[in-house]
Amino acid sequence: MTYDIDKIRSNFPILHQEVYNKPLVYLDTAASAQKPVQVLMKLEQLHNEYYGNIHRGAHFMADKATVEFEEVRNKIQAFINAKSRKEIIFTKGATESMNLVASSFCEKYLNKGDEIIVSEMEHHSNIVPWQMAAQRYGAKVVKLSFNDTGILEIEKLSELISEKTKLIAVNHVSNVLGTVNPIEEIIAIAHKNNVAVMIDGAQAAPHIKLDVQKLDVDFYAFSAHKLYGPNGVGVLYGKEKWLSEMPPYQGGGQMISEVSFEGTTYNELPYKFEAGTPNISSLAAFGAAIDFLIEIGIENIAEWEHELLDYATSKLKDVEGIKFYGEAPGKSGVISFNIEGIHFYDLGMLLDKMGVAVRTGHLCADTVMAHYNMQGCIRISFGMYNTKNEIDVFLAALNKVRMMF
Ligand code: PMP
Repeated sequence: MTYDIDKIRSNFPILHQEVYNKPLVYLDTAASAQKPVQVLMKLEQLHNEYYGNIHRGAHFMADKATVEFEEVRNKIQAFINAKSRKEIIFTKGATESMNLVASSFCEKYLNKGDEIIVSEMEHHSNIVPWQMAAQRYGAKVVKLSFNDTGILEIEKLSELISEKTKLIAVNHVSNVLGTVNPIEEIIAIAHKNNVAVMIDGAQAAPHIKLDVQKLDVDFYAFSAHKLYGPNGVGVLYGKEKWLSEMPPYQGGGQMISEVSFEGTTYNELPYKFEAGTPNISSLAAFGAAIDFLIEIGIENIAEWEHELLDYATSKLKDVEGIKFYGEAPGKSGVISFNIEGIHFYDLGMLLDKMGVAVRTGHLCADTVMAHYNMQGCIRISFGMYNTKNEIDVFLAALNKVRMMF
């Protein structure tokens, strides 16, 4: 593979700066990826040249923006190989995608006494919406545990499923552990029992080539900002058979067919789930991010990130007092850890002063923290633009901090 890292980095102006008089080393892409010029230029171009509200057909600029907006839907459809563009719902991000399903799917299908199975390694955004729905309808959230290596105990899944189970919610890739979950297997077990599956793909979409038809997944969520696109926009993929039966999530413009005081009829898919003016410019720029990703190739990016992951892991293993969280084989490009005797906040703050940006804290995954009986940790994560040299800078900074303590 020829992976031209210098060329790739040249597309990201933000990376070429100093913070606290040190060259920036950005190791927090799992929280949010930096944006290439192609994305930034699209945001500017739309605002400078053809900004207008979409789907209103009012004038030249509105039409042009609408065409672009709907082309992005086609791009996303192709990107994840969805059967129909009706199955691509634009949302604010993965969080809203999960909330939409928790709200609309549960309103239609969840009854008193029913159960939703949720994995123990979820981001808060794939736990709390299910708890809220369960509370609303008198249902129960059931935990699917993981072991200390960071592997889901899916051998227990069949036992957890009963005739009360309506849905299983699990991430494709864990934002703390990096585990790539065997979602094909989970979906097959669920479908054998007539249970729907919601996959949180926020950490998977930037690294794994998706084929929602092959996966046979019912719902799949992801955010643009982790895919080198702008923040504030994301996608919910849902099978048409579910989306067509589910009630709307929010009411407003665009989601209706006709409104009167006697009653309202709803628009066809996907618009039934897209009330109000969407984030037009960010969605256009999301399209530019998808083009950029396709040009470089998700598989090439994943291969590069795995090289970085192996390199960093092998070096970190030698650090005295280090404890890793998540060591599943084939894991994705995140490393979460603590170092004995150094508080994660102190470590994160001192690394920052040396120009190294990492994530610290509970990582929006309290149930993972509780599993390991800890308050928080440090996470480094890789994107398409990181280098081995940056990992060396991080390791040297880490060593300096260890010397201080
Ligand atoms: N799920 C996972 C696994 C995540 O890592 C994140 C973002 N940290 C989310 C969901 C939520 O994504 P967003 O904040 O973009 O909605």
